[in-house]
Amino acid sequence: MNDTLHSCSFCGAPQGVDTPLIAGIDGHICEACVALAHQVVTSWGRCRALNGPHKAPPKPQEIKDQLDRYVIGQESAKECLAVAVHNHFKRLAVESKSPRRALDDSDRVEIDKSNILLLGPSGTGKTLLAATLARIVGVPFVIADATTLTQAGYVGDDVEGIIARLLDAAGGNKDLAEWGIVYIDEIDKLARVGENSHGTRDVSGEGVQQALLKLVEGTQVKINLKGRKEAGEPPLIDTRNILFMVGGAFAGLERVLRRRLEPGPAGIGFHSEMTAKVDPHATARIYDETQPDDLRQFGLIPEFIGRFPVVVALHDLDEAALVRILTEPRNALLRQYQQLFLFEGATLQFSPEALTAIARKAIARGTGARGLRSVLEGLLQRPMFELPSMSGVTGCLVDESAVNGERPVQWQYTAEVPAAVAAGGG
Ligand code: ADP
Repeated sequence: MNDTLHSCSFCGAPQGVDTPLIAGIDGHICEACVALAHQVVTSWGRCRALNGPHKAPPKPQEIKDQLDRYVIGQESAKECLAVAVHNHFKRLAVESKSPRRALDDSDRVEIDKSNILLLGPSGTGKTLLAATLARIVGVPFVIADATTLTQAGYVGDDVEGIIARLLDAAGGNKDLAEWGIVYIDEIDKLARVGENSHGTRDVSGEGVQQALLKLVEGTQVKINLKGRKEAGEPPLIDTRNILFMVGGAFAGLERVLRRRLEPGPAGIGFHSEMTAKVDPHATARIYDETQPDDLRQFGLIPEFIGRFPVVVALHDLDEAALVRILTEPRNALLRQYQQLFLFEGATLQFSPEALTAIARKAIARGTGARGLRSVLEGLLQRPMFELPSMSGVTGCLVDESAVNGERPVQWQYTAEVPAAVAAGGG
């Protein structure tokens, strides 16, 4: 039956029971050559990815323009981050182009890494900014939560695990991982208790700060390959050029700042402005004044603070910003729900007053833009339950009274549906 036996057009291996071949138009390929070709193609992909940051990094204005497409408001934070990230990758690009010259040149000015500390209330875009930046410069990115980290040897995620995940995010490419971005959330929870009453950590928080310090400064991390598919020598990742961003709400830092900025009844500067009314905008502004010593008083260790020269404050989002977040970004929440309704053949519209009411409700929840989703879920749950079983519906209109729970959303029907049914549905 095998009177037309073929052979692999790449390696010449003859077709057999153990060597099946895949037929092409003019040739054949065996499994081993497919695997080899896959490896080669993967390495092209990695080279392409790696070429991203090796080329000139995007200019700060370009980074800011891209950030604007995803992150609403936080203008000064975006500008500051655009500069820090541009400088970081510029430094890497220059060093990687002429590493020898960089090493030999005794006059060379050493540029420190500009690790970034983001201060700001929950749900104001800290993680979103970090993730968007990584996407813009095309490097692997991981998010870790400081509260789950432990010093090596304790139960929990240890600090080295972050780098293992970064290597995974880089598709196993060591070079790419060594230029990645790591974002560590809830860093304020590592503060020593005592000087502030908001730290929820005991001394182990300080231990984790120490462990992170080594990582941020630059160390060789041996990646544990146990339980992984790849065999062989455990890779060593150098963390010297990884950009670290840490973020936290730093609740309680405000008191430290007030103590410094409002030295007493005779105080000047912020005193008159800030004590008269404790409005959220004034609170937001006060975070802009953060100095390293305030962070030390909050409970971060000085060496750790010293490794984060760029401190960026994010501000509470106001009603107008939340309305923009609902509607403007590419994956804006409203667009997502509108798409879900379209799957059922209906449009979903909101009156401008309804949008403002949704923003107001989200602000009352105190979770920043995160509150928007839960408000929308609560509001649209009933309509989304009903819609798939309804017939003749062409649209759903949400007005302010629907948001405030005073009456249900209004359904729009095709002309053929009798008025009585329409009235019943609305
Ligand atoms: P956090 O500051 O707590 O890290 P996140 O960045 O995780 O907050 O924000 C939670 C979600 O809220 C994001 O996924 C995003 O959808 C939305 N969001 C928060 N801030 C902004 C913003 N400034 N612009 C656009 N969306 C935002």
